[in-house]
Amino acid sequence: MILLDRVTKLYNHKGSALERISLHVEPKEFVIIVGPSGAGKSTLLKLLTREEKPTSGKIIVGGIDYERLKDRDIPYLRRKIGVVFQDFKLLPNKTVFENVSFALEIAGVPNREIKHTVPKVMDIVGLKGKEKRMPLELSGGERQRVAIARAIVRQPKILIADEPTGNLDPKHAWDVVRVLEKINRYGTTVLLTTHNQEIVNSLKRRVVTIKDGHIVSDKAAGSYRPS
Ligand code: ADP
Repeated sequence: MILLDRVTKLYNHKGSALERISLHVEPKEFVIIVGPSGAGKSTLLKLLTREEKPTSGKIIVGGIDYERLKDRDIPYLRRKIGVVFQDFKLLPNKTVFENVSFALEIAGVPNREIKHTVPKVMDIVGLKGKEKRMPLELSGGERQRVAIARAIVRQPKILIADEPTGNLDPKHAWDVVRVLEKINRYGTTVLLTTHNQEIVNSLKRRVVTIKDGHIVSDKAAGSYRPS
């Protein structure tokens, strides 16, 4: 599903954010990426979404070789990858329903299908009945689940969650993690970055640790101890 082969990313001449990183993620895996601030985690995710280009190395996601990717193919790539951020990035003047349906509207999905699809994802993220609320009328955990609904509404193969629990208290953080697990059970590959030690250690999933631009460990059912 995701293949990185000796990928290096150099932003400037001070040193590389990532250095010859190789990583293979199978379809339907749930992978947690951990490491200290500045280690290169966000850079790795930005390379996958094509926000950044590697300085060298090979990236293949869902059969798409990024070397051959044309700018006009990027919307197609983005459809395969849903992204959720720490700060939710919801549209404050739109309702929950509109925040989720927006991605379908701009893709030209017919209204009838939108009305059918949005309630299904609202159900998956546990927010049925809150469609008419505005984002500010929700708790942080609920807002993050709206962001997840929006990220999965076009049924991406991969969901990238970059510190999705960073702004949440423990209970809401767990609500979000449970939703990510459910989406993973339904068949979506999940990449999660987090600093939350308790979450990492309880999930017992594959843990990839990045430090100073290198993968320093990669363990099934791994754990995390910030140093
Ligand atoms: P993390 O997500 O693990 O905190 P990042 O990927 O954001 O780490 O950063 C890795 C390194 O790359 C850091 O040294 C950071 O300062 C540098 N970096 C990240 N983004 C940029 C950028 N746009 N321009 C220059 N340097 C950057």
